[in-house]
Amino acid sequence: LYGAGRVNAAGTDLTQAGVRAALADAQKHVDARAPWPCGPVISGEALTKDAKLTLSSPADLSFPMVRLREANKNDIARALKAARAAQPGWNALGGAKRAHVLRAMADALEADTNRLIALMARETGKTLSDGVAEVREAVDFLRYYAAEAETKFAGPARLPGPAGETNHLELSGRGVFVCISPWNFPLAIFTGQVAAALAAGNTVLAKPAEQSPLIAFEAVKLYLKAGLPADALHLLPGGADVGIALTGLEHIEGVAFTGSTLVARLINRALAAKDGPIIPLIAETGGLNAMFVDTSALKEQVIDDTILSAFGSAGQRCSAMRLLFVPKETAGGLIEGLKGAMNALTLGDPSDPATDIGPVIDADACAMLEEHVEAITAAGARVLHRAPLSDDLKAKGRYFAPALIEIDSLDQLTEEKFGPILHVLRYKRADLPKLSRQLADKGYGLTLGVHSRLERFVGTVRAAVPAGNLYVNRSMTGAVVGVQPFGGEGLSGTGPKAGGPNYLVRFAAERAVTVNI
Ligand code: GLU
Repeated sequence: LYGAGRVNAAGTDLTQAGVRAALADAQKHVDARAPWPCGPVISGEALTKDAKLTLSSPADLSFPMVRLREANKNDIARALKAARAAQPGWNALGGAKRAHVLRAMADALEADTNRLIALMARETGKTLSDGVAEVREAVDFLRYYAAEAETKFAGPARLPGPAGETNHLELSGRGVFVCISPWNFPLAIFTGQVAAALAAGNTVLAKPAEQSPLIAFEAVKLYLKAGLPADALHLLPGGADVGIALTGLEHIEGVAFTGSTLVARLINRALAAKDGPIIPLIAETGGLNAMFVDTSALKEQVIDDTILSAFGSAGQRCSAMRLLFVPKETAGGLIEGLKGAMNALTLGDPSDPATDIGPVIDADACAMLEEHVEAITAAGARVLHRAPLSDDLKAKGRYFAPALIEIDSLDQLTEEKFGPILHVLRYKRADLPKLSRQLADKGYGLTLGVHSRLERFVGTVRAAVPAGNLYVNRSMTGAVVGVQPFGGEGLSGTGPKAGGPNYLVRFAAERAVTVNI
């Protein structure tokens, strides 16, 4: 059993009145200080003067949350110089000492949980329960990679060889890593990438998503206070131009990216077009994630798991369910049940404990989702149901009513649409092999769900559809660090699994040393 004895963070129990009161208090403090200054952090110096951008909360467009000073070319050059100079020293510390720093970073996050949740509720519209899970995941990444650094980067591993010769395999940092993280897990994935790169002995230039620089800014300040050397991690917030400048740098030795398939491709091309060393890309992208249900599945469980997987976090998870295959025989009851459960969803202010679903991230996301509904219905699909959303809420923020759409053929779906839209397809048992092949041909391979009590059915789907994470008879989101290592294949990513035992080595250089005595 890999990782036995390791314990993930306990998180915060939202059912406790005291916990909810403390969160409400933290929210009040966070709101009172808005708009929050934000900008690059280079060698420990936070640069927030001359902020030109104001970011409002997606949950309330009249609420200015962040005043951002974006990173410029000079910042990037300065950060790179410092990160390069610091890398050999950080690497030479060794796995155990780096683990010690990472653990202190985890403790600092954990101690500040409520404020971090409150910041995310405003900056990205995360609900409280998503906020709890997010902080917990960030803490888990730090502690998990700390443990990995301790065991795998403790020193050279001895290898066999002939008499008179010693052989060792050494792992070390590659150099400077560029980490580009998404807004949907603005603390957890930001921290996960950075923690992995640091644990392996790299120094880091990190670009958070342009929609979520603040939580990363606040996290970096905590990490520095906890003892992370100021030159080991530099924060460079901004948009695509900052990302392009970072991946175009001459002296970087690796890129970790989580986001869309399209951007991963652009980064891959940019890296390939550069002269100099060949730079590895660790990419985790989207999915056209499906769940296959058969007639032996338990209806209530399917409904529960579907609502959570498709509409939880406003569908803004790479892992989220986009497509539900329901057998013709039981489709009617399942769809009626889903409609009823959708009616019970509460959309609203993410900082309200009663809210199930917050806003989507921005105006572009809202428009893209509405356009998809229009386009797919024009092509023959039918909107079966929308969750209730008041006009007031719609006018207040970037709210999108979760949608259930029936399609008749997989040709109607081409690519991932990131948000709370679930497509449902009624199938005949005889068509299952053809349908699973068709789905596999779309080229994605992230998450896959199966609801069935029949091993043969599970086996058929599993063999036909590629997926980095397969979930049987449960929901298909919320991978837990060290328990469900997360990452996909094909259009869904380059494969390394975050929160898994093989991740850190992808951030490392390996050297075999042979000495003839
Ligand atoms: N790890 C997350 C989950 O299992 C998804 C990560 C993502 O959206 O990038 O739900």
